[in-house]
Amino acid sequence: MEDKAFCILSLGSNLGDRKKTIEDAIAVIRENEQIYDLKCASFYETEPVGYLDQPWFLNTCVSFDTTMAPLELFDFVQGIEKDFHRERTIRWGPRTLDIDIITYGDITMDTKRLTLPHPRYRERAFVLVPMSELTDIDVPIPGKRAVRRLDDGI
Ligand code: ADP
Ligand code: MG
Repeated sequence: MEDKAFCILSLGSNLGDRKKTIEDAIAVIRENEQIYDLKCASFYETEPVGYLDQPWFLNTCVSFDTTMAPLELFDFVQGIEKDFHRERTIRWGPRTLDIDIITYGDITMDTKRLTLPHPRYRERAFVLVPMSELTDIDVPIPGKRAVRRLDDGI
């Protein structure tokens, strides 16, 4: 049996019918024969980051197991972005659809096209919040150190 890797993707949209775009993109991902056991988090409306003069985003995350290699998965999701007519004009500007690979198993890599885990996800509530519905997040979040209540009291 082929090995499968557990992956998390982040999806976002702030142009056109945001919900339909994200749902249709998730349907394409789910239907791929190399994608197994896809789960989708809730949808969140989020304020833009970086370039602020643009509509709010709709964001979610999905998790699944896949037999695709990292760059195969990257080409697959870039192809979906393209099919939804994403236009890259302003960095961090409005987009019909943005799909980022947040994690691919426990692989780390840093190539021209693909960095894993995604280099900025720890700073992005619009990734961390939906992602936390799908998996335990065990990375330190800047400014938000882990806090645990002491049940014993004093
Ligand atoms: P962002 O996702 O940070 O808002 P873009 O979607 O414009 O920015 O992505 C810019 C580039 O980031 C892409 O062309 C892609 O090659 C690169 N990239 C590097 N690592 C990843 C990753 N893990 N997932 C998606 N894109 C990535
Ligand atoms: Mg992206």
